[in-house]
Amino acid sequence: MPVYKAPVNDTLFVLNDVLNLQNYGNLPGFADLGPDMLEAIVSEAAKVAEEEFFPLNLSGDQEGCTRSDDGSVTVPAGFKEAYDAYCQGGWLGLAVPEEFGGQGLPYTLHAAVGEYMSSANISLTMYPGLTQGAIAAILVHGSDAQKAKYLPKMVEGVWSGTMNLTEPHCGTDLGLLRTRAVPAGDGSYRISGQKIFISAGEHSMTENIVHLVLARIDGAPAGTKGISLFIVPKFLVNEDGSSGARNGVACGAIEHKMGIHGNSTCVMNYDDATGYLLGAENKGLAAMFVMMNEARLGVGLQGLSLGETAYQNAAAYARDRLQGRALSGPKAPEKAADPIIVHPDIRRTLMTIRAFTEAGRAFTLWTALKSDIAHRSEDAAERQTADDLLSLATPILKGVLTDKGFDHAVAAQQVFGGHGYIEEHGMSQYVRDARITMIYEGANGIQALDLVGRKLAANGGRAVMALFKEIGDFCEENRSDETLTFYTKGLKKGLNDLQTSTMWFMQNAMAKPDNAGAGSTDYMHLFGLVVLGYMWAKMAKAAEDALAAGDPRKEFLEAKLVTARFYMERIMPETALRKARIEAGADSLMALPADAF
Ligand SMILES: Cc1cc2nc3c(=O)[nH]c(=O)nc-3n(C[C@H](O)[C@H](O)[C@H](O)COP(=O)(O)OP(=O)(O)OC[C@H]3O[C@@H](n4cnc5c(N)ncnc54)[C@H](O)[C@@H]3O)c2cc1C
Repeated sequence: MPVYKAPVNDTLFVLNDVLNLQNYGNLPGFADLGPDMLEAIVSEAAKVAEEEFFPLNLSGDQEGCTRSDDGSVTVPAGFKEAYDAYCQGGWLGLAVPEEFGGQGLPYTLHAAVGEYMSSANISLTMYPGLTQGAIAAILVHGSDAQKAKYLPKMVEGVWSGTMNLTEPHCGTDLGLLRTRAVPAGDGSYRISGQKIFISAGEHSMTENIVHLVLARIDGAPAGTKGISLFIVPKFLVNEDGSSGARNGVACGAIEHKMGIHGNSTCVMNYDDATGYLLGAENKGLAAMFVMMNEARLGVGLQGLSLGETAYQNAAAYARDRLQGRALSGPKAPEKAADPIIVHPDIRRTLMTIRAFTEAGRAFTLWTALKSDIAHRSEDAAERQTADDLLSLATPILKGVLTDKGFDHAVAAQQVFGGHGYIEEHGMSQYVRDARITMIYEGANGIQALDLVGRKLAANGGRAVMALFKEIGDFCEENRSDETLTFYTKGLKKGLNDLQTSTMWFMQNAMAKPDNAGAGSTDYMHLFGLVVLGYMWAKMAKAAEDALAAGDPRKEFLEAKLVTARFYMERIMPETALRKARIEAGADSLMALPADAF
């Protein structure tokens, strides 16, 4: 049977020792978050993940969701009870302002807790996850009346949320969307059209479902400039806040898919449904982007989460499975064979996943902290820098952590040999579940284009220059610290490759845009290697400092240093390969005519 234990000590190390969360006591929601309080919250979340969510992961995969002829959808047994326990524990509204029923705690903490829930059961976690994204969009773009009407019930979890962008002919290119919105004359609109692949589109876990739907108002401009966002509740909401008549929206089918079987992926049919404009007319994409950016961080976190669970299972199996003898002589001579963890190639797999996952956790929480600063700081300059870095980090986090999450699920499955391929050990589920994270919320190729095409040049390259300076300054400040030289040298070399590649794009992509597209995925991964290397250098510094101060977590801190060394020796050198591919340009990629493929 699969195992999962939330990595509480590692989360606390990142929050306390690396990010020094206690230094942000001036931000709303951070004041009482001393180490004891953090430990109490994170440990409680670990309990929910391990005891409520994880036991339903395998059964949810096997059982899946079913749609009845009346359009209702049944989720796997136990999901509703676990969801209710999660909501009653206040986890859904952890970072939502108190005036709407939330706890007003940092988004950083929400991200830390979110990792555990997704590791334990990604399908189940998606139901509240979609609601959290919808809450974020209503918080930013909703009128006071809309906030008062929808948010408290959504934060309580008795109503859930969805995001409806995709149509059969329109995925990445939202400018093609056809769903119509006709003014009804009373301030509302009549929404008609079909949306596909809608996660948590229909289910039996909440009293109402608040769909956020992109549609085009009759007469609006073609393309992305004519798209508006609407709130379309499954049940109309009466003046007193209670649920009223059924709206004209129904689930036409659920998709049969490769993974995340416990989450209902729905075809949603809108037939003259009543909708309410959220934000301004024709500004729907900007409004939806609040939800999409939140969701992109959430999906990056899913990649990390699945890599972590797959790693834990592979490590446990490798300690147990007896095959062959160690190259350096038997390690368990009393047994028929040594456990496979003695083999360097198995170690290579485990260390690679571990090095990415621990740095990925630090990068996710670092990014989440930028989001907190961007939204909560009173200092405008501080808010702007944080917002720049958040915006730059989002496609890297989504693209790199999910590409790696899938790779790691496959690598962890390999540790099991044939036993990973059969369903019994649960490794096949992690591979199947991780695959979607590379596709939804903007396929990873699109994340790479967003990074190269938009984020690099935004505001004259302000964000990228700020980050390069931050990393360069870190290396400079620690140059004379001999315990850190190894890490800062490796980081500096990676940073040089990244800076050279950035310059290459500036010189070669304007005149020939295909050069940007041809190098974008390599650039996203190159950027990822460097920011994760930066996280390792920061973690190595925190570990060295703590060890020098006689911290009792000796074994944990020494393991950090070993893993940091592994990253710099065996992973960071990949920056040179990525740089070479970028500099090869688009010629050989684009040379063959389309009909030669
Ligand atoms: C299980 C599941 C759940 C989902 N949940 C939701 C949801 O809740 N709400 C929602 O609205 N949608 C949802 N989606 C839809 C998902 O976001 C889309 O599938 C995704 O955005 C890609 O769109 P597409 O499938 O139409 O692919 P396409 O847009 O057709 O893209 C096909 C391929 O071409 C590439 N491509 C496209 N355009 C370009 C370009 N300009 N340059 C380079 N490459 C390009 C893409 O990267 C991709 O690899 C879900 C999908 C699945 C499978």
